[in-house]
Amino acid sequence: MDFRLDEEQQALRESVRDFAREVVAPVIGEHYEKRTFPYEIVRQMGKMGLFGLPFAEEHGGMGGDYFALCLVLEELARVDSSVAITLEAAVSLGAMPIYRFGTEEQKARWLPKLLSGEALAGFGLTEPGTGSDAGGTRTRAVLDGDEWVINGSKAFITNSGTDITALVTVTAVTGTKPDGSKELSTIIVPSGTPGFTVAPGYSKVGWNASDTHELTFDDCRVPAANLLGERGRGFAQFLRILDEGRIAIAALAVGLAQGCVDESITYAKERQAFGQPIGNYQAIQFKIADMEMKAHTARLAYYDAAARMLAGEPFKRQAAIAKLHASTVAVDNAREATQIHGGYGFMNEYPVARFWRDSKILEIGEGTSEVQRMIIARDLGM
Ligand SMILES: Cc1cc2nc3c(=O)[nH]c(=O)nc-3n(C[C@H](O)[C@H](O)[C@H](O)COP(=O)(O)OP(=O)(O)OC[C@H]3O[C@@H](n4cnc5c(N)ncnc54)[C@H](O)[C@@H]3O)c2cc1C
Repeated sequence: MDFRLDEEQQALRESVRDFAREVVAPVIGEHYEKRTFPYEIVRQMGKMGLFGLPFAEEHGGMGGDYFALCLVLEELARVDSSVAITLEAAVSLGAMPIYRFGTEEQKARWLPKLLSGEALAGFGLTEPGTGSDAGGTRTRAVLDGDEWVINGSKAFITNSGTDITALVTVTAVTGTKPDGSKELSTIIVPSGTPGFTVAPGYSKVGWNASDTHELTFDDCRVPAANLLGERGRGFAQFLRILDEGRIAIAALAVGLAQGCVDESITYAKERQAFGQPIGNYQAIQFKIADMEMKAHTARLAYYDAAARMLAGEPFKRQAAIAKLHASTVAVDNAREATQIHGGYGFMNEYPVARFWRDSKILEIGEGTSEVQRMIIARDLGM
């Protein structure tokens, strides 16, 4: 087993590292403070081909793989998580369902724009009344002639309300199965469809330069042909999407954890206390050593999950482990990095303050830590 990166992977990682440091770092603090969406950064990421990374060239993609996407997410999150989650959600939750389950017409219509970063798509699973328990979905879609009529609402949907959002895919109850359980399907709703309303952005603790909205559907009509994948397969479809997404979120969490190490080393070498840099004190060195250990082991966990996925092997448990471990590590490292920065760590102008605010959601989004434990335990036969 060899987890060393090949030349192409190293080159990709380095180009994104430079981009994050030179293009993202100087401007992201202001976007974060003002809660504005970084359109210019998104445009440049589009030009770099990042939105098309894990997709085949025939659909306008770059012909890379999911691991390449993870490497990119790690490097972005090492500098800023709002930008990283914008890319993660756009690729893994936005474009991937269409790429995997779409008809040729749906692919031809949406993928070129989504894979170039010219447009974004959201993935609407969570509702105001249900998140972890996706079976509790209440949004309904009823077939009326050759149209779906959708009623319901979705909560916390990333990339759903930007100026360049082209569509959201929503999960909805489309009937009842023979065993009495809900028949769940996935439907594409283009932005601007009458009856589809995007609420103003939330006031969030973190990810402040990313786009998140509540959505409502009030007799919202879309063509029957907007069904994504097979009717009644919505549940299975989004489980696959979420399994993959967990590896991507783990990579993002590792990036944040590593960014905490970077910032802590720089600060500990500069900050003087009791006549010398605080980095000379073993108490600080040990904190940083522990942070590095945690980032490293979390990285190995997501590399392993991605390798299994790309090899076509089962990876559900390993993806859950990677997400659970990496998000825990991200929160730990953000807390310690803030501690090392003392009072300045509590000031928003310091990146670690952003890391701290951005870390907590990693234990919640795309399956909470409790849900990851449920997945792992279930996979162990419990
Ligand atoms: C900024 C942001 C962006 C998001 N983006 C998206 C998006 O793009 N698309 C999307 O669909 N969703 C999105 N989400 C939603 C996110 O995935 C959910 O918030 C998450 O899955 C948890 O669901 P919930 O908030 O309903 O919490 P709940 O499911 O209500 O859980 C509340 C608490 O109960 C615990 N719990 C629940 N069931 C059990 C159980 N059986 N055993 C033990 N504990 C349990 C949970 O772990 C949690 O601690 C986003 C959320 C945020 C905050």
